[in-house]
Amino acid sequence: YNHVQIPHCTVEKVVTGGPFAHEFAPPYDRLDAYVEGGGYELLRELREGRLTPEGIIETLRQAGLRGLGGAGFPTDRKWALVRSQPGPKFLAVNADEGEPGTFKDRYYMERDPHRLLEGMLIAATVTGCETAILYVRDEYPHLRANIAVELHHLRESGLLGDIAVHLRRGAGAYICGEESAMIESIEGKRGLPRHRPPYVAEQGLFGRPTLVNNVETLFWVRDILQEGAEWFAGLGRRGHKGIRAFSVSGRVKGPGVKLAPAGITARELIEEYCGGMAEGHAFKAYLPGGASGGILPARLADIPLDFGTLVEHDSFVGSHAFIVLSDQDNAADAALNLMRFFADESCGQCTPCRLGTEKAATLMARPEWDEPLLRDLARAMADASICGLGQAAPNPMLSVLTHFPEDVAARGR
Ligand code: SF4
Repeated sequence: YNHVQIPHCTVEKVVTGGPFAHEFAPPYDRLDAYVEGGGYELLRELREGRLTPEGIIETLRQAGLRGLGGAGFPTDRKWALVRSQPGPKFLAVNADEGEPGTFKDRYYMERDPHRLLEGMLIAATVTGCETAILYVRDEYPHLRANIAVELHHLRESGLLGDIAVHLRRGAGAYICGEESAMIESIEGKRGLPRHRPPYVAEQGLFGRPTLVNNVETLFWVRDILQEGAEWFAGLGRRGHKGIRAFSVSGRVKGPGVKLAPAGITARELIEEYCGGMAEGHAFKAYLPGGASGGILPARLADIPLDFGTLVEHDSFVGSHAFIVLSDQDNAADAALNLMRFFADESCGQCTPCRLGTEKAATLMARPEWDEPLLRDLARAMADASICGLGQAAPNPMLSVLTHFPEDVAARGR
């Protein structure tokens, strides 16, 4: 859609309608319908003092809401930290989902944008942010157009209050989904991740304290406050709290966004939510966290999927992009594909990542893999890269070396 200019800055510039306003998206609740269903009532209660910021943070704590962009950091702690910082402060909402296999934020924004916008306004009010910025990835032009229209209506209705809300167009780079790179991009610079500390909660946008939240995290705020912490926490399985949107793709019968309990296992997710494996395919492996979380064999498919549960297998769920491989796939080929992706998307700022991903992709493209050399390279990348891209890039390759040596050998035949 490069030839079409989409308004990407302030809502003041937006004209209602437009070529991409509703063309590619499923129908969704507009402002009137959302308000009729009780929408923005919680925001009113908060502004009128019937709900307190402290009470809301405590409810989120009890619910166990975590950062669903991939890091899983407890939302209540982040909100409390930013709330304790001096103003002026910013809220930056990360809608730049670029992890291969992840499409759940799109799902939420397409179907129920006001639930996100209400969560955003509640977050800004609780933490004292005067300015909120919604950073939507460049590849979602229809979403930006729809949200721009709804923001326009929100402003007209007075519901934005004193909060300045800006809609920003992403820069089309995977790395801009990394929070500090996103902040650089919003500031108008190249999306290069920053060294930490200082953390963005203390020094983020324009050097000011900044709350960065993912779309899905904010999406659940209204429901948690309305239905109660116990309701949300009780949606999980095996003691894990809450519900997650898994973006499922690969060799299953029914791929798509699946709202499933936190703590569900890979096998349960495939059987209960995806209708089983696709015809003619036997379950061989899965990627629990998109490109970055490694590739696990089917024999490890009974581990609960949640933050921290896959650590002993050097894996993680991240943004819950769940990709299924079958007996017809070669895991080593999949890992090579992912390494090429990382080499392409490396911002180039640090040597271990810039050269390491390229070198690894070259070595992995050979018929035989030099395991000691690849493991050495992986260690240097994991230890010395500035951000998660370079640190996690070797994960698929390492898991293939550990779990699928036969697939590596098969490449040489
Ligand atoms: Fe850029 Fe890679 Fe270094 Fe991250 S690890 S800062 S993506 S070069």
